[in-house]
Parts: sequence; structure tokens; C-alpha cells
Amino acid sequence: MGYDAESLVKAVRALGAEIAHRRAELTHLDQEIGDGDHGENLARGFSAVLTKLRAAEPETPSKVLSLVATTLISTVGGASGPLFGTAFLRASTVIGTATELDGTLVASALVAARDGVVARGKAEVGDKTMVDALSPAAEAATAAAAQGADVAGVLAAAAAAAAAGAESTRPLQARKGRASYLGERSIGHVDPGAQSTTYLLDSLALSAASHTED
Ligand code: ADP
Ligand code: MG
Repeated sequence: MGYDAESLVKAVRALGAEIAHRRAELTHLDQEIGDGDHGENLARGFSAVLTKLRAAEPETPSKVLSLVATTLISTVGGASGPLFGTAFLRASTVIGTATELDGTLVASALVAARDGVVARGKAEVGDKTMVDALSPAAEAATAAAAQGADVAGVLAAAAAAAAAGAESTRPLQARKGRASYLGERSIGHVDPGAQSTTYLLDSLALSAASHTED
């Protein structure tokens, strides 16, 4: 069975559950170097996404992603809402009218998501933001797709690279976003957005792996 809109809706539902589960942890990370709302912001956004998915039946993977994007933009708030919204929107655009995803499309979607976040937030790798997780994830996904990996394989590679990227933010001093106001005091903590990006990709990878086994 191909990875179609229905598969992606299932994955987004699992993602909503994962974000709800990580809410306190993400908020705790944001208490260390921000204003302590990152977990709440994302949990509110994904809860709204799940509500919308109960009423809508998006026909293509692209439409699933654009529903996620517009809902996150209108409900998450904070710096991360428009950034995650842009990521999902760019991914949606790249996938276009495809009815099923493959490894190459998923890798292109992640590259587009990363490029969108960078264009919008102007952060580079090393600034201690979600880009530190998303950028290596997009690159690992591209490399995996070039070697013929399927959706699950590409997402597994992306998730592993994102986890390493999130951990790499710990010794960094933040140069973008609210954490940058802390100067040197931002050193020694993992960036909340890099961590949530990792959980997001981890959850998508897990769903794709169980989809493959179906
Ligand atoms: P806020 O900072 O407005 O409270 P959140 O707490 O929801 O918003 O999100 C904080 C996260 O947003 C940070 O951990 C960081 O990863 C990400 N972020 C903030 N500014 C930028 C930026 N300019 N580019 C990329 N990511 C950013
Ligand atoms: Mg915050």
C-alpha cells in the first residue's frame, strides 16, 4: 500500500498525541531559555489540527499538510507558530498534486520546509534554533533518498540527524529568538524548537515504519 493522504492523516494524528505527551517537557525547555510556552503553544496548535481533521477529509498528502500549516499559523502563536506553519506550507507546495509520497518527495518536502523556515526566520545553523535540527534532517533525508530509501527510511534518517542536531544546540549561545536575550545564560540548554522538531520527525518516522509493516 502506498503512502497516501489517509496514511498521512494517521501520522498527523499520532503526531498530535506525541506533542501532547511532550508538552510539559517542551515547556520546561522553554522555561530554561525562553518564556515557558513552547509546549503549550504546540499542544494548542496540534489539538486544533486534530479537531479539524475530524471534520475534513483531505484528498491528497499536500492538502493534509496545508491544513496542518494554516491551523498552526492561526493557533500556535509565538515565534514558532509562523515558522512551523511555513515549514508545513512549503512542504505542501512541493508535494503538489501527488497522491502518494515516496522517499524523494519526502526529502524534497523537508528541504523546502527548511528553506522556508530559514527564509522566514533568518536563522542559520549554529544560531541555536529549530534550524539546527531541521537543516541536518533535510540533508540526511536527501542523502537517504538518493540511495533509494523509501518514505520510512528517509524519515528515519531525518529523525536521527534532527536528534543529533538538537543535542548540538546545548553548548551554543542563542543568536535568534527570545533565547538570544539571555546571552551567555542560554548556553547549556537544548533549544526547545530544535527538540520539538526532533519529536515531530521521530513521530512521523515511527508512523511511516509501522505503515511499511502493514
Ligand atoms: P516564543 O519564542 O515566541 O515564545 P515558542 O516558545 O513557541 O515561541 O518557540 C521558541 C522556538 O522558536 C525556539 O526554541 C526556536 O527554536 C524557534 N525560533 C525562534 N526564533 C527563530 C528564528 N528566527 N528562526 C528559527 N527558529 C526560531
Ligand atoms: Mg516561548
